[in-house]
Amino acid sequence: MNPDRVRGNLERVRERIAAAGGDPARVEICAAIKYVWAEDLPALAEAGIGLVGENRAQDLLAKQAEHRDLFEWDFIGVLQSRKVRDVAPNVRLIHSIASDSALRQLARHPAREVLVEVDVAGEEEKAGIAPAELGEFIERCPVPVTGLMTMPPAVERPEDSRPHFARLAELAAEHGLERLSMGTTQDFEVAVAEGATIIRVGTVLYE
Ligand SMILES: *Cc1c(COP(=O)(O)O)cnc(C)c1O
Repeated sequence: MNPDRVRGNLERVRERIAAAGGDPARVEICAAIKYVWAEDLPALAEAGIGLVGENRAQDLLAKQAEHRDLFEWDFIGVLQSRKVRDVAPNVRLIHSIASDSALRQLARHPAREVLVEVDVAGEEEKAGIAPAELGEFIERCPVPVTGLMTMPPAVERPEDSRPHFARLAELAAEHGLERLSMGTTQDFEVAVAEGATIIRVGTVLYE
């Protein structure tokens, strides 16, 4: 991992956020680090990355054991309820609360703040709460819900994600929620145009 290269990539992501109509000072860039070895994390910090998102509880704890102070840490992956205990006290924000069993664990192991993952595309096998069930789910959540997250299907053209992002933004507005975690390497500009406040990008930073 070469810090200069990552710094250049990060700069271009900021430019593309601005070109998409976002304020690069306000749209948070969460670097997805599932592809990054612990030993490469200092290079990311050196490149100017301040916020990272991990997908697996075990990897989160292992990477934090070495480099906790380098970043703010979010959890962005599928969260098994038995892992809530390990993740909740160790992150700024969990992006991906999506089950009643996770809510039950949050009651015992509170997180500071969470986002609810929504299955806006209605994909059967996908994690996420159905839009129709969102209101009740948020009410049952024992810790503050400050926004919504979605992971749309893999798309051929970024534009194909737009309806999903627009729907997520609409749902957040309906429920009075501020944070919108949406957009990855494949479609972050469209997400920003639709109001993303946090984009989660990996590949575009490391290639
Ligand atoms: C890996 C991952 C990302 C980043 O994906 P890229 O295509 O590498 O930008 C974003 N969100 C989640 C939940 C991920 O698992």
